[in-house]
Amino acid sequence: MTVPYAEVIGDPVAHSKSPLIHNFWLKKLGLEGDYRRTRVTSEELASFLAQRLTDRDWLGCNVTIPHKSAAAGLALEMSPPADKLAAANCLVRHGRFEPFLVAHNSDVAGFLEPLSDLDFSGTDWLFAHVVGTGGAAAAATYALHQQEVTVFNYGRTYEQAEALRRRLGEKDMDFALDWASFAARGSSSVETGESVIELIVNATPMGMSGFPPLDLTLSNWSSHTIVYDLVYEPLETDLLRAARQRGLRTINGLGMLIGQAAAAFELFFETPAPRGHDAELRELLTR
Ligand code: NAP
Repeated sequence: MTVPYAEVIGDPVAHSKSPLIHNFWLKKLGLEGDYRRTRVTSEELASFLAQRLTDRDWLGCNVTIPHKSAAAGLALEMSPPADKLAAANCLVRHGRFEPFLVAHNSDVAGFLEPLSDLDFSGTDWLFAHVVGTGGAAAAATYALHQQEVTVFNYGRTYEQAEALRRRLGEKDMDFALDWASFAARGSSSVETGESVIELIVNATPMGMSGFPPLDLTLSNWSSHTIVYDLVYEPLETDLLRAARQRGLRTINGLGMLIGQAAAAFELFFETPAPRGHDAELRELLTR
């Protein structure tokens, strides 16, 4: 007997926590289904997806590095915001007789989830500083634009940051900068109380296991700065540790990881993820 299934594809993919999260929710709901992990190289991607489309049990897949842009290009339809970002982290199979792929991007919803827990009453200005110009940086910037936040994009070079800013639609108040400008911006972040909050987002792999830490100086940033590191392996990055030592509020990558998975789960299994068990899930993910 076969069961409906979804999976995560990428190269590498062994590190992915998606199977743990989705199978946890399937079990909690008592739903028949499975969620797997499959290594797929860039050369294999198109033929792999074409083959999977012929499998009636296959509901779709999450897409991780390095396939997010290529996956968007292979879908017949793109739902917002995947179309705007030209990147998909989720492909869903549609069409009973002539199956096709619809691309989604649940990183945007996932990124916003931990921020929605914060109290911004009394805040007149929220400035966001997004470091990195890849897929996660694009999703974070797009999400912040939706919240009408002014975004400073920092690239390894100014040109990379400017290219991201243009791709997402230039906004008068937004800025593209290179990494070297980060320290200078910190010096101008003055103590104004809760009325001005600066949000620093690490959207690079720096600080992830196997990568050196993100080398940012936090000492000259206002005490009302929040540091949000999208890295989730490890959860306590050197950047977050430094921020905490400086007395700043911090957000790790776990909330985004669970949030983006919840949006994908509903697309695959057509039922909301059982979020009443988040504490148990967080405990499992951090064991
Ligand atoms: P990506 O598309 O490959 O982009 C990575 C970005 O980081 C690029 O701007 C890249 O610059 C920069 N970068 C890479 N290595 C660097 C280095 N050694 N020094 C300086 N900059 C470097 O990756 P992504 O998908 O955006 O993912 C970025 C991070 O976000 C990863 O750690 C990922 O795990 C995390 N993430 C977390 C979640 C979550 O749910 N918590 C979701 C998505 C992503 P160049 O282009 O110049 O190389």
